[in-house]
Amino acid sequence: MSFASLGLSPALLRAVRELGYHAPTAIQAAALPPILAGADVLALAQTGSGKTAAFALPLLQRLVAAPPRPGPRALVLAPTRELAAQTAELLRELASRLLHRPKVALAFGGVSINPQLMALRGGCDVMVATPGRLLDLLEHNGLTLAGVECLVLDEADRLLAAGFADELHRVLAQLPARRQSLLFSATCPAGVQALAEQLLHEPVRIAIEEAPPQITQRAIQLDRAQRLPALRQLLRDEAWARALVFVASRYTAELVSDKLFAHGFKAGVLHGELSQGARRDVLAALKAGSVQVLVATDVAARGLHVEALDAVVNYELPRSAADYTHRIGRTGRAGAQGVAVSFICADSAENAESHFRLIEKRQGQRVPRECLPGFEPQAVATEAQASGGIKSATRKSKKDKLREAAAKAATDGH
Ligand code: AMP
Repeated sequence: MSFASLGLSPALLRAVRELGYHAPTAIQAAALPPILAGADVLALAQTGSGKTAAFALPLLQRLVAAPPRPGPRALVLAPTRELAAQTAELLRELASRLLHRPKVALAFGGVSINPQLMALRGGCDVMVATPGRLLDLLEHNGLTLAGVECLVLDEADRLLAAGFADELHRVLAQLPARRQSLLFSATCPAGVQALAEQLLHEPVRIAIEEAPPQITQRAIQLDRAQRLPALRQLLRDEAWARALVFVASRYTAELVSDKLFAHGFKAGVLHGELSQGARRDVLAALKAGSVQVLVATDVAARGLHVEALDAVVNYELPRSAADYTHRIGRTGRAGAQGVAVSFICADSAENAESHFRLIEKRQGQRVPRECLPGFEPQAVATEAQASGGIKSATRKSKKDKLREAAAKAATDGH
């Protein structure tokens, strides 16, 4: 399969060649023809599948084929600023190679609105935004959505999970009824299904099953206190050139990154409270190789793309199966090999073993448990404990001791 056979224009064919895309990915092969034909599309595809180009290429082609009009003529909504920024970057790279160079504007929250308002003064052809900031811009009369011909909801499941449902509906209410709508999502929970029904007209449905075969999943049982030394050993033994370590909070991200740094690792940190500039710098450092291991929270890492990431480590488990899918999807991208390691701590307060089982169940895949030599857990989760609460096999709780004493007294009495 070639891009040429999918109906791309010569200019965009040249652009994909220059980006180093030799052949379309599965989602691109499936989505390009219906989008070019003007159909609505519901596409289920994981991040890393090449989904961004799957809508960016046909969207730009349709835009430049039609006579110029005041914009924005296309609106892309994304759940996070990282994803919005990366999408805008690809659109701009492609647009810069077209004769009429459609103008791509980018807006997200957490930064001053003024530069974004200024940037919109000359108008734009494509608007890429997070929903909340887009509403702010609309309220400031920074733009109008009356000319939108094509709407893209990217990572729709994340948009809804991030609590954007309300904002989304307020934006949708301002769009013209006649338009092309494209909905991309990694998963299809009921909310996404309902949104698709409301939004899409006779959509072409595309499902790319990429329960990523290139990602080897590992689940390592160990005690909480052993996580740092075990991580250091993994980083040394596995010789990962680039690894992303997920933790649950900004505090832990800073702590783990500092400790790794103190042990001589090229460690960086990425979390929601860093400035946009600091995030960009640390991502650039990871790309350039001056950072080997990036310790990140979910919020900051959503939508993040890092070329050739060897490994993802769940130092702390994600809250949901969807987050797990997103986390491990950061490695093994676009055909590369990757490994996803999850630490399962039997002595964790939040019952890690049963939580991880739920994650396995949701993704329909069982990950064999293993122990790292030298880091075997003191506390062992048994099958029975996993469904109740996990307790240490070596230490007894006060209640257990009382129960045992009562049982002993009962036996002694007989
Ligand atoms: P996405 O799923 O859009 O986040 O894309 C994942 C990565 O795959 C990005 O780094 C793209 O540059 C890369 N990519 C997208 N399409 C192709 C392709 N046809 N060939 C090679 N790499 C691609």
